[in-house]
Amino acid sequence: MAKKRTTELHCDFCGRSEKEVKLLLPGLNACICNDCADRAVEITHQYLNELKKNTVPDIELETLPKPAEIKAFLDEYVIGQEAAKKYLSVAVYNHYKRLAQGEDDVDIEKSNIIIVGPTGTGKTLLAKTIARMLKVPFAIVDATVLTEAGYVGEDIESLLTRLLAACDYNVEEAQRGIVFIDEIDKIARKGDNPSITRDVSGEGVQQGLLKLLEGSVVNVPPQGGRKHPEQKMIAVDTKNILFICGGAFEGIERQIALRLNTHVVGYGSSNQMTRLEREKILRYVAPQDLRSYGLIPEIIGRLPVLTNLEPLDRDALRRILTEPKNAIVKQYIKLLEMDGVKLKIGDDVLDFVVDKAIEFKLGARGLRGIFETIMMDVMYDLPSTKRKEYTLTLDYAKKQLEKSGFELMHSSD
Ligand code: ADP
Repeated sequence: MAKKRTTELHCDFCGRSEKEVKLLLPGLNACICNDCADRAVEITHQYLNELKKNTVPDIELETLPKPAEIKAFLDEYVIGQEAAKKYLSVAVYNHYKRLAQGEDDVDIEKSNIIIVGPTGTGKTLLAKTIARMLKVPFAIVDATVLTEAGYVGEDIESLLTRLLAACDYNVEEAQRGIVFIDEIDKIARKGDNPSITRDVSGEGVQQGLLKLLEGSVVNVPPQGGRKHPEQKMIAVDTKNILFICGGAFEGIERQIALRLNTHVVGYGSSNQMTRLEREKILRYVAPQDLRSYGLIPEIIGRLPVLTNLEPLDRDALRRILTEPKNAIVKQYIKLLEMDGVKLKIGDDVLDFVVDKAIEFKLGARGLRGIFETIMMDVMYDLPSTKRKEYTLTLDYAKKQLEKSGFELMHSSD
């Protein structure tokens, strides 16, 4: 007969007996209760997280996507914009190279980028898409909220708050991240540029930004916004942070045209300007145009890679509707597929959507709105029916748009 156990088991961590706890896990020579086991897991996690906070994984060049692979990924989501995609791919790859290089190698300089392009042509989309495949922290920030210290708005250093948040406040990681600054044109100096209507001192903000672009140690408010004395600051070195700036630079065509014209006249073919399509003129944007627009030369000097986005023509808009991996049409097909309905859309409907986007000057952003308006009733009714298939016709699309009052809301007259 087995010998009856006389002594009660105890948790060797808190000392409580097996009667006092829910579960006692026996080990080789000791026991642990469920509460102490929970606590042990907690402490282990905390410790490992702390450890992670102070270390960053090595960047190994062999395992990184090459520029062509980065571009191929961008191609899946962004239509056209070949030049910008190439520039971005190379810049990101070179950024990795800088991070991978040893201490005593040739000092590879950082190539911050500035992308000039009309609104709604894919600047933010490019930035967001690239963020999906990056191996370093990435943040998108808006330059319009920034003001010089002393004014209502956010301190320039708050640009880095987002980056810190993107990597769980791991400073080491943030220091090799990428920041996309949108609407950089809004901090252009007011004086030289008639289209700027806000911001008290664009130049002051630019001076502040320059410090970040150049690479310096700055104190970042962890919660963003305005710095205040009681707040604990986090020191971040921006030396290895890559900055990508984007802006519409509305009206910059005038500066470019002016410059090109002078040049062309100088060479005796004065009518060359008229042959340049006005809206395609952006592809000739040069650093001096940014300067005429109101960016200070020091900032321009710190953004050595200048590229532009093309205006989206009819063909590009048509492709945007169906081709990107998350194209709006693909999304609707998927949504209805989940209800067991196969959605068929005629080419004439897609052409109609594009026509309307052009007619109302809504660009790529308008495509979604128009398509959503047309599909509203279908999305409402179809899930309650037993239909297995639905074909969206041009007649129906026209009627829906008319019924919704969309045309009235968006017509400019
Ligand atoms: P912006 O240049 O003003 O930053 P966005 O990138 O925000 O413009 O574009 C607005 C929307 O238009 C995007 O979310 C996307 O749906 C669509 N879009 C714009 N340009 C493109 C493009 N080149 N390829 C695919 N979709 C695009």
